[in-house]
Amino acid sequence: MAWWDDVANAVASAAEAVGDAVETAVNAAAEVVGDAVETAGSLVQDGLNALTGNSPLSGIAGWLGGIVSGVAKLFVANVIKGAWGLVGGVIGGLIKVLGGLLTGHWDLALRGLVDMVSSFLGGILAVGAALLSLIQTIVPFNSDERPLTKAEKDVLRNVFRGSLALYNIRIKNTSGLRTIFTLGNTIYCSSPGLNIPIQILVHECVHVWQYQNLGYRYLVDALGAQTIYGRDPLHACAPGNAYDWLAELARGTTKWEYFNKEAAAQLIEEIWTDGKLTTNEVGTTISTTDATHGAFYRKPVEPEDLHFKLVEEFIADDNPPSVPDRYDPTTTEVIHCPRDGKDHTQLAIDSVKRMRSAWNFRLSRFL
Ligand SMILES: [Zn+2]
Repeated sequence: MAWWDDVANAVASAAEAVGDAVETAVNAAAEVVGDAVETAGSLVQDGLNALTGNSPLSGIAGWLGGIVSGVAKLFVANVIKGAWGLVGGVIGGLIKVLGGLLTGHWDLALRGLVDMVSSFLGGILAVGAALLSLIQTIVPFNSDERPLTKAEKDVLRNVFRGSLALYNIRIKNTSGLRTIFTLGNTIYCSSPGLNIPIQILVHECVHVWQYQNLGYRYLVDALGAQTIYGRDPLHACAPGNAYDWLAELARGTTKWEYFNKEAAAQLIEEIWTDGKLTTNEVGTTISTTDATHGAFYRKPVEPEDLHFKLVEEFIADDNPPSVPDRYDPTTTEVIHCPRDGKDHTQLAIDSVKRMRSAWNFRLSRFL
């Protein structure tokens, strides 16, 4: 019956919206409290490092500071982000499950179930990860750690605008493991001197954004995508793998916020490398195109000078250039896998807008 279908559809979309809103609100509250605790830990760590500078005490101070901030992170992972994320995910998921079952929308019920399982596993992973990181710090002098540089922060402010809290982001070594990955606000890398190629930093910071806005379940979702769609280091460009954002479009997922977590991060990275910005002088045919990395993100949100019209463009490169390898700069790798060579500007505009619209009332954004 048509009228019943209409009612059922309305109830199902309401259940989905309310479930998402509950999860978002609980995680936002956890972020504000968790950020304050983590920021206190980072301030002690940075303060100790600044006080001792290059003196003989600096090694001890760095070690002690790492432990203070590690304990703060463990507390945040356990008591705040992990536990609250679990509560938010279970309540939000349950609303979707009930809404889906009542209206016969089985896909909605399934999404609710995934939310519940993801936030549960996310809570467990969060605690394990924070504990491992603290142990790594306690083993003396095994862990190099650094905050973001000013140049890195400038890039990230352009990409994320106000939607990412940068102060607590730290780059830490992997104690020999050859990889780059993100756990909460910490980006682990094995690159020489903790130097991360900037496009990789942009990718990893999308994971930080996911952590800050969705909680630790982002990690379960990302690992899930790598398991379901594949992540084979020997065939990094296998079509349809977790990082292939074109495959998300092919599966019918048109919105960035519903992309799997790896594809979402990869799209933002490739908008950084492939995006362009053309400046047209209004009333003339004079135009200049900036095709340097990050150009797409440099368009001001509010037009600054009405004599110029700025137009972004994102053509997904089908023949990407080679750059120094992320682990071994003496060799090269392609900057990203070849895509379709087509114009995806509208997807890029919508995705960046969605990402930047994330709520951010964290204390640390003012540091
Ligand atoms: Zn990733």
